[in-house]
Amino acid sequence: MNDPIKNKVLVITGGSSGLGEASARLLARHGARIVLGARRMERMQAIIESIQAEGGEAIAVQTDVTHEEQVRRLVQAAIDQYGQVDALLNNAGLMPQSLLELGRSEDWNRMIDVNIKGVLYGIAAVLPHMRERKSGHIINVSSVAGHKVRAGGAVYSATKHAVRVISEGLRQEVKPYNIRTTVISPGAVDTELPASATVGEVRDALQKYYDEIAIPADSFARTLLFAMSQPEDVDINEILFRPTRQEY
Ligand code: NDP
Repeated sequence: MNDPIKNKVLVITGGSSGLGEASARLLARHGARIVLGARRMERMQAIIESIQAEGGEAIAVQTDVTHEEQVRRLVQAAIDQYGQVDALLNNAGLMPQSLLELGRSEDWNRMIDVNIKGVLYGIAAVLPHMRERKSGHIINVSSVAGHKVRAGGAVYSATKHAVRVISEGLRQEVKPYNIRTTVISPGAVDTELPASATVGEVRDALQKYYDEIAIPADSFARTLLFAMSQPEDVDINEILFRPTRQEY
């Protein structure tokens, strides 16, 4: 039987490490054509070379998702190279957590710009194309923190709650166009995310927590594979998963 993923064109924001990288590698093995977008070009170059070495297809476009025109350029590059975009993984994100009383507005702004506005720019960039084709799949990455909040995580949780709300609104809006929407909410997964914390003690505590409980990034990639492998009349809207040993 044909792999349902074969030849699908998947655009991944935040494709230079972590969940984006693991997704690119797994989906490419299933025959997807991958278009990576992130700021670190050398990292993406290494990923596409190793995908190509395994016989897969991938390109990378340097993209900062806080710039709407760069996200549009990423999507256009996918269309120019492969003729279409079948799926967008809106994944770029960061987690510089801290107590609100510290007033770290620069971190708040970056989280809002990348985690929320970046997702909106991704949606805006693919929607006209997907509407026209009456086909497409938009997958947004939220978090367990998109369902819960705890001290130090208010702004990060707010951005991830926003991703879920935007995803549900999107789901309702795109029904007439046969476009599918999925929001994936992972628990602690072993990536570079803890390193995005800008307060030393927070970063150390997060890293310690992740070292103790996080599961490999492939766990995320498999949930994406599941959602994207369904027949076109099946719309997997939400996936929430955690390490078995994670309490939060
Ligand atoms: P990583 O830090 O490994 O990856 C983050 C990715 O986002 C990198 O590829 C980075 O690329 C990219 N990125 C950051 N800022 C920008 C920007 N301005 N423009 C474009 N790309 C950007 O962490 P994860 O893989 O874990 O994170 C991916 C997503 O998963 C995030 O949205 C995160 O919130 C979410 N998540 C992760 C969990 C975990 O435990 N790992 C749990 C729940 C959710 P570059 O720096 O090259 O631009």
